[in-house]
Parts: sequence; structure tokens; C-alpha cells
Amino acid sequence: MSNNPSFVLQAVERVEFEERPIPDIRDTEVLVEVKKTGICGSDVHYLVHGRIGDFIVEKPMVLGHESSGIVYKVGNKVKHLQPGDRVAMEPGATCRVCEDCKRGRYELCPDIVFAATPPYDGTLCRYYPIPGDLCYKLPDNLTLEDGAMMEPLSVGTHSVANIGNLKAQENIVVFGAGPVGLLCMAVAKALGARRIIAVDILSSRLEFAKSYAATDVYLPPKPNEGESKIQYSERNAKTMQEQLGIELRGRSAIDLVVDASGAEASIQTGILIARHGGRYVQVGMGAPNVTLPITTALVKELAIKGSFRYGPDDYALAIALAAAGKIDLKPLITHRFKFEEAKEAFQANRVGKGADGKAVIKAVISGPDVSPEDH
Ligand SMILES: [Zn+2]
Ligand SMILES: [Zn+2]
Repeated sequence: MSNNPSFVLQAVERVEFEERPIPDIRDTEVLVEVKKTGICGSDVHYLVHGRIGDFIVEKPMVLGHESSGIVYKVGNKVKHLQPGDRVAMEPGATCRVCEDCKRGRYELCPDIVFAATPPYDGTLCRYYPIPGDLCYKLPDNLTLEDGAMMEPLSVGTHSVANIGNLKAQENIVVFGAGPVGLLCMAVAKALGARRIIAVDILSSRLEFAKSYAATDVYLPPKPNEGESKIQYSERNAKTMQEQLGIELRGRSAIDLVVDASGAEASIQTGILIARHGGRYVQVGMGAPNVTLPITTALVKELAIKGSFRYGPDDYALAIALAAAGKIDLKPLITHRFKFEEAKEAFQANRVGKGADGKAVIKAVISGPDVSPEDH
């Protein structure tokens, strides 16, 4: 593979390797030689469905956005980087002049150029051009794999620290123990949460969550026949309260609920289980419309917030927590693939387990000519 080999989504269910030209960079950009890329649910979703909401794949698009690499070339105006630097790459280039950017909430920028969100190409290639300020130098004690994990970890710092405003000694429940849920738990642990309760319908995921960052786990019962969704959620919240000794006020109450599942029952249960005066954050993308126990939310004065990608300081906090040894990302990387094996990597992600039969948490694809053994 010579030039700029790239892994391109051509159409639904059709991916191919392509030789693409090496991109030019602007004064404010750097060209990064991509070394590690994690696969995200969204990459798989584009492959299978060709769209996420209003984002529709209409022309071939390079996949991947959770990447790290080594700086290859630096634009004239970039002062903090030089060729050879190992960097985590934040994959959303914002316009910097719109209302949202200027208010410090750049994740809301309507003109964001986000890797592997149509029509913009992603990072599963050899050379990727990126604004210099979106490259974060990796401390020596972090690997390039850790660097790629900074993208999903930043989703965690954004939702738990910056949107959820979790403080030390608070209690948190995280619904969904997939990669994002686990990283939310890891952030909560790093920030000194007292109780971190993981909820998932798969007991194997809960076992892992308990070994990783959760202090407690909860496996919801199955819905009864003829039970409406909200009836089920009410029963579920009650059972959860009894099993885990959760009150709605005082020290055993849940200060922050983070839903990383997107499932209606979790969302409803989350609102029901939160303390009076508590916070609820939606980070999981699932059912686009759900029924909410809104009177409960009103009476509790529950703050309900959305959390989308990451904004100012989220990458910096993610790197700082990992570099300080407060978050270990290694246990989450369950599968590693060569660049040429990108299709196999997507397949493993899709079915949820690798050829080895082990459940996939995070699969990482190495850059062209990079060994998967080389972390
Ligand atoms: Zn992602
Ligand atoms: Zn903007």
C-alpha cells in the first residue's frame, strides 16, 4: 500500500479499499499519519443503514473517527506541534465564528466538519488533515491505542463531568454498559463518585462493569405480559430501589442519572429513580421518540439535559484522567485488526463478538503498515 489507502463506504453494505491522493493542508492544519482507530456504533450504523437521522450517505465516504496518530507535516501557523509528535485527534472541526462556537458550546456548531459524518470523510486512511488545535499531544505514559480511546472517553467526560456536573461523593446510575456507558462509569470513578450503579439487560456486561468501574450492578426483570411500558418502568424502578437501597432523598439518593442505552424503559426508569432536585443526562442514541413520566420530573425539579459528542475541555480532561492513572483504557480494547482486516473488524463489531468468540467491547484497526501488536 503506497499512497493514501483509505477504507471507504461506497453504499449500504458495501465497503472497499481505495487509493486516494495525499491531502493538502492549510496553514492552520497538520497532516497526521493515522495509527489507531476504534470502531464506533455510528460507523457500523452507516455501513448497515446508510444514514443516522438526517445524516445520509449520498457519496462514497471514508469511515472512522476515533483515531490517534503521528504528526507527519505541520502548517505554517501551527506552533505547538512538530513532525513525530504522537497525538489524539478530535474529529470535529468547527467554524469558530457562529453563535454556538462563540458561546463555548462548539459541539452545537451547525457547520461542524465531523469525520465520517456525511458528507465528510473519516480517519480510516493513512493521511488525515486536521486543524492543529484539535491534535492533543499524548503524554509519554499513554499509548497510541489510549489516544484513539480519547474520542469515546471524551463522550464520557462531556456527559458526566461537563453536562452532568458530577461531584465527588455523589451517586450515579448509568444505564447501558456498552463502551460509552463503561467510559461514563470510569469518569465517575475518576471524579470520586461514591456509588456507581451499572444497569444492563446482559449479565455478562454487568460482570465486566463491576470488574471495571461500577460499585454496584442491577439486572432489570423481564416485562410481564400485558404490562404497559410505563407500568414496567415503575415496577423496575421500585425493584431497583429495594434491591439497592436507593431513596429519593438523602445520602442514598441518586444525584445523577446517565442514560447510555437509548432504551425507553431505561429512560423512564432513570427519571423515576433520580433524586428530588437531581440531574438526568441523555447520551445514548436510541428510540427517537419516547414517553416520559414528565410530572415526576416536574415535581422533582429534575434537570434533564442532552449530551452530544464533546466540547471545550472534554478531550483535555479525558487525557488528564488517563495520564494520571485514574482511568485504565486497556481492558476495553478486546479486539485488534490490521488495516487490511477492516472488513473483519466491522463484522466483529456488528455481531458483537470476534472470531475468537469473545464479546467485543472496543475493536481497534491499525493504520496501513502498522502492526496490531504495536500499541
Ligand atoms: Zn464514536
Ligand atoms: Zn460554529
